[in-house]
Amino acid sequence: MQVTPSIHRLGNGLINSYLVEESGEVTIIDAGVPGYWGDLPAELAAMGRALDNVRALVLTHGHSDHIGFAERMRRERHTPVSVHELDAALARGEVPNPAKGLGPTRLGPLVRFLLYAGLRGGLRNRPLGEVATFGDGATLDVPGSPRVILVPGHTPGSAALHVPSHDALFVGDAFATKAVTTGDEGPLVAPFTANADEAVRSLARIENIEAGWVLPGHGEAWTGGVAEAVRLVRERAKQN
Ligand SMILES: [Zn+2]
Repeated sequence: MQVTPSIHRLGNGLINSYLVEESGEVTIIDAGVPGYWGDLPAELAAMGRALDNVRALVLTHGHSDHIGFAERMRRERHTPVSVHELDAALARGEVPNPAKGLGPTRLGPLVRFLLYAGLRGGLRNRPLGEVATFGDGATLDVPGSPRVILVPGHTPGSAALHVPSHDALFVGDAFATKAVTTGDEGPLVAPFTANADEAVRSLARIENIEAGWVLPGHGEAWTGGVAEAVRLVRERAKQN
């Protein structure tokens, strides 16, 4: 699906993987679930690109529903995959998911999420055999030149990726615009967050960024500004 002419998305909005094109080359931000591998060629073709144009896969954090087809891409295409250093062990499957339970749930949305993920291989994700790492503040040498902002809380190594040339901020699960476990919509603390208080505090690190496109790991694009999204997450967090 086209977000902008140079940013496309795999999936229906429940679990997002983004393709970012610059000067004919592509960076993939998060790899969703393994089944998205089959959707990738057609989505690249819709951008006038092919698998050969993919230069890098960057992960916003080490959760399995973001690693998706990353290991397959690394092995079959030798695409470099990277994640913040604090989430590398999680991405390699060496430490358990730090998330503390599901939080609130509603049966319908939760079942829809699990079915959606399960039908796309989400229950047999492969961790990464190898993953490169980056630190806070780095500007990555990949198409789009994303700048890394560490936003710990959802996981210790959660990172937002700012791509100013595309007016875009990829927030991973620093916050979501849909809670897949309840169906709630709008900017909110993402489900499966290890430390919600820390996640909310970390939003101060991104709230002054100007980006017309705020692109979360779960839910639709937010175009109301980063500051307003952060305000809404804080407001909702206070009510809980
Ligand atoms: Zn996550």
